[in-house]
Amino acid sequence: MPLHFDNTYARLPAPFFARVNPTAVSSPAWLAVNPELGALLGLTADELPSPELLAVLAGNAVAPGSEPIALAYAGHQFGNFVPRLGDGRAILLGEVVGTDGVRRDVQLKGSGPTPFSRGGDGRAAIGPVLREFLVSEAMHALGVPTTRSLAAVATGERVYREDVLPGAVLTRIATSHLRVGTFQYFAARQDRDALDALVRYAIARHHPQLAESPTPALSLFDAVCDAQRALVARWLSVGFVHGVMNTDNCAISGETIDYGPCAFLDAYEPARHFSSIDRNGRYAWSQQPRIVRWNLARLAETLIPLLGDDDASTVKMLEARLGTFAERFEETWSATLRAKFGLVDAQEGDAALAQEFLAQMAADHADFTQTFRALTHMAAGADDGVRAHFTDRARITTWLAAWRTRLEREPSDRDVIVARMRRANPAIIPRNHRVEEALSAAQRGDLGPFERLRAALARPFDDDAASADLTTPPGEEQWGYRTFCGT
Ligand code: AMP
Ligand code: MG
Repeated sequence: MPLHFDNTYARLPAPFFARVNPTAVSSPAWLAVNPELGALLGLTADELPSPELLAVLAGNAVAPGSEPIALAYAGHQFGNFVPRLGDGRAILLGEVVGTDGVRRDVQLKGSGPTPFSRGGDGRAAIGPVLREFLVSEAMHALGVPTTRSLAAVATGERVYREDVLPGAVLTRIATSHLRVGTFQYFAARQDRDALDALVRYAIARHHPQLAESPTPALSLFDAVCDAQRALVARWLSVGFVHGVMNTDNCAISGETIDYGPCAFLDAYEPARHFSSIDRNGRYAWSQQPRIVRWNLARLAETLIPLLGDDDASTVKMLEARLGTFAERFEETWSATLRAKFGLVDAQEGDAALAQEFLAQMAADHADFTQTFRALTHMAAGADDGVRAHFTDRARITTWLAAWRTRLEREPSDRDVIVARMRRANPAIIPRNHRVEEALSAAQRGDLGPFERLRAALARPFDDDAASADLTTPPGEEQWGYRTFCGT
């Protein structure tokens, strides 16, 4: 078998998982494959796609070395704690060390029921599977840490949701599937030994340099805070709204995980949220920094028993760390935002300059991606393109003059500034209406639009005239876009 498994999670104690094989499907067929990611996992072009691998990734065969398991975890869903969630429709086949030396999980999603299915069918429909494939790979190309997609396979079977839909299985690749909810699972069971083993495992896997720390749990916590801070700042910078930031969807690795109800801002509306089940906007674009801090507080709580006998002083120390989170997030976000304006040096007045631009964008519902891209073109010498996004021309003209003056105080050359801005301001993101269009066609058996969009999203910082239609915002009739939890 081409995938060389080398499993560590299956060596952890029994409560961490349940052994369960995928359920075979009637007629597997490839929907999409990712040869570039395959190569990273050691797969040649003959192996991906191949009939042998198709059988494995459909769940019809267990590869040598694979030890299929469903992982145990808990989680706060929209603020309510559920002590036992777990992989209800996902099965970890095992781990593969890539050609880059990085260990990654190979997981099937939609591969049949597990002991954690809680009455669910363990299956996934083609739409959510291709959506995760498309958006996770787009996020990767955008430079946002994320789980990735190796393959999508049609099962030839139907799944029953509100409609009857074609079934599919996704092969998800992640540097691990540890979540805040994994820690919560053992904390809720008051299983201190398991928590201890989990901390050691997470450190070995993600931060081996912390193994010698005198306070491993605390060092791990700090590292997870750093990773999540960086992640959410990247989300904001590309207008990404995760949509379901439950603690079971908050990865210890700092990778984006779970693309069920995610969406991207078209117009800049900070309070925008898309998920039909997120009635109060708990997970709106601008709420994400606050929510990630809330999730990290839940992680902190699980670690208290590991941090000494004096719980009161432990709590104080963790609270102090969480207390500085907002401030440190602001620093990270300011730096990320500065890059969008071509600024690297932090100078007096930068924050006000950025805020004034965002305020004008919000007032005019300016398109988030196009407006920043137009600014990039302007830095490169293009005439205008920015002003067209605003109604108060005098106000934006004043702002542009101030921005130009500020750019002159940057030590870098113009080309360096422009190159930096191009990387910070993509030309193309997975526009909600384009994603929907591609998924609808795929559901009807036409993968053409999916492949076309996928190819364009692989080079998000290039201006490609052939994909120009994929970069524009939707028409007015699509402004009320909503997402549904993709189960
Ligand atoms: P999610 O909303 O996708 O993060 O999933 C939350 C929980 O519901 C996880 O424990 C999933 O494994 C479980 N789940 C979601 N969909 C299904 C399904 N079709 N069958 C079984 N379990 C599911
Ligand atoms: Mg999930």
